[in-house]
Amino acid sequence: MATHLTVAAAQPVLATAHSVIHKRVEDWAVAPNLKDYSATRSAFSWAAALKELDGLPDGQGLNIAHEAIDRHACGPLRNHLAIRWIGKRGDVRDYTYGDLQILTNRFANVLKKLGAQKGDRVYVLAGRIPELYIAALGTLKQRCVFCPLFSAFGPQPIKARMTIGGAKLLVTTQCLYERKVRQIRNEVPTLEHVLIIPEEPGAELPPGTEDLTRLMAAAPPEDFNIEPTDPQDVALLHFTSGTTGTPKGAIHVHEAVVAHHITGKLALDFHADDIFWCTADPGWVTGTSYGIIAPLTNGITCIVDEEDFDAERWYRILQDQKVTVWYSAPTAIRMLMKTGKELPAKYDLSSLRFLASVGEPLNPEAVVWSHETYGLPFHDNWWQTETGGIMIANFAAMDVRPGSMGKPLPGIDAAIVQKHKDGSVEEIVEPGVQGEIALRPGWPSMFRGYWQEKERYEKCFAGGFYFTGDLAKRDADGYYWFVGRKDDVIKTSGHLIGPFEVESVLLEHKAVADSAVIGKPDPMAGEIVKAFVLLHEGRQPTDDLRRELMAWARSRLGAAVAPKEIEFVTTLPRTRSGKIMRRLLKNREMGLPEGDTSTLEQS
Ligand code: AMP
Repeated sequence: MATHLTVAAAQPVLATAHSVIHKRVEDWAVAPNLKDYSATRSAFSWAAALKELDGLPDGQGLNIAHEAIDRHACGPLRNHLAIRWIGKRGDVRDYTYGDLQILTNRFANVLKKLGAQKGDRVYVLAGRIPELYIAALGTLKQRCVFCPLFSAFGPQPIKARMTIGGAKLLVTTQCLYERKVRQIRNEVPTLEHVLIIPEEPGAELPPGTEDLTRLMAAAPPEDFNIEPTDPQDVALLHFTSGTTGTPKGAIHVHEAVVAHHITGKLALDFHADDIFWCTADPGWVTGTSYGIIAPLTNGITCIVDEEDFDAERWYRILQDQKVTVWYSAPTAIRMLMKTGKELPAKYDLSSLRFLASVGEPLNPEAVVWSHETYGLPFHDNWWQTETGGIMIANFAAMDVRPGSMGKPLPGIDAAIVQKHKDGSVEEIVEPGVQGEIALRPGWPSMFRGYWQEKERYEKCFAGGFYFTGDLAKRDADGYYWFVGRKDDVIKTSGHLIGPFEVESVLLEHKAVADSAVIGKPDPMAGEIVKAFVLLHEGRQPTDDLRRELMAWARSRLGAAVAPKEIEFVTTLPRTRSGKIMRRLLKNREMGLPEGDTSTLEQS
């Protein structure tokens, strides 16, 4: 296990009791790609970053799948391991860059045969199985738009996302189709084809679906020519949530690959021959940008584990697969902490070189714990669905201040700002003052819109900035420190949940008159989804009804989104204009002062 870092006395940063973890040049096992933050930042240009990619042959544009697969498959990395898939039962399947080229060609040919055209939305609802990765990249080859759906979503979130994006084609497994899609299929009129990955070869499939395995076998493996792809052509549609309204489809274009590639190199410190494990699910943006695209464009090996979190299994994978770079999330890290230091001591984790974390606040204790336990700290980084790639990070060569998200990536202009009531925007330069994180548009993986919601998109910009909705402070040395969300979205186990989506489903139950949903702080998951429910007159707030509502929500929303707690109430706070005051409920839940209640409707 690498133990090449030193801990020194704390610097006077934003009130943190934790030590700074210093990085010393003489301790580098491998020289980081970003050795000097300021120098790399000032020398950086996106034009130079683009030059690290090949572009389609004959100047035909830029296509993510070409950069991720074909350029390697046609060069010295053809036989290099691209993806090692580990199944739930421990079975292993290896895919070289050459294998991936053939399989993604087949998938792209399937799409072509079915009449899927440039810009058509291809949804994939699957666990972390090889077909998901093949479908994602094959979709991009055919210049269709890849839209991942988290497999733990229930029928409602699936229907909402397919409806908003106008799904033309869905790839899913037989089991997920039966459990979650069959019942809503006819409610998505744009859906022309459902391609099923059968439970077992030759299994009888539901009517109106097609067998992906058979279609793939019949499709030509070679000679898929990616048609000219404009860097601004839409490539990815990632759904995210706001406080109100339906989920939002964040649009990303093929040019995003420039950011995926370079941030993989600079923030995750990818080196040739790295074995990289991103534990995120491609149903969320991290699992696509860094679980598929960035490692492949960098020509390294990705580990994909089909199974969910299990501490022993994870340590075994890190050991047996000789993982060098590990990208995970705070909830998982906290669960590893809970299992203690003895367990990892039983495994040889000496291959690990760089650890990174994203998705929710990484508590300083977790950074210090990982440093003590693995000899390496987790490097927190920050970004969101809309930014497409890592924006703020702790870099391999930079001192880590536990609790801080680090500094903006080269090429990223970040600021702490305040928007005044008159619409003017003030940049806060004074250290330690809280404001909203804002970014100057212009990086390649910036979202280009919310699908068919121009106004919602435009509202995110003011004074030449994109407003992220996250509150933070910056210290005198330029490190960013997360404070919280400005809105009411919920982060549970790293997954972003819109309260409105949950409230709507609860309201569909005949006993429910009104509901409000908040993120209740939780030591492990960061937050859990908690619902306050007001019942119709005559309905009794019994435990049986609570269980019924829980089951109702789970069957419609899926386990990832449904509330973990339901509290019956007799009133719900609303503003005079009728908006639910979730913040007040949250403050009450946390035992905090109620805050500004001047707009509260007195009932
Ligand atoms: P998503 O769009 O689902 O990836 O969620 C993005 C949101 O997750 C951000 O706007 C933050 O609120 C939160 N987030 C992501 N990374 C971090 C981090 N390192 N620290 C704190 N919050 C984070």
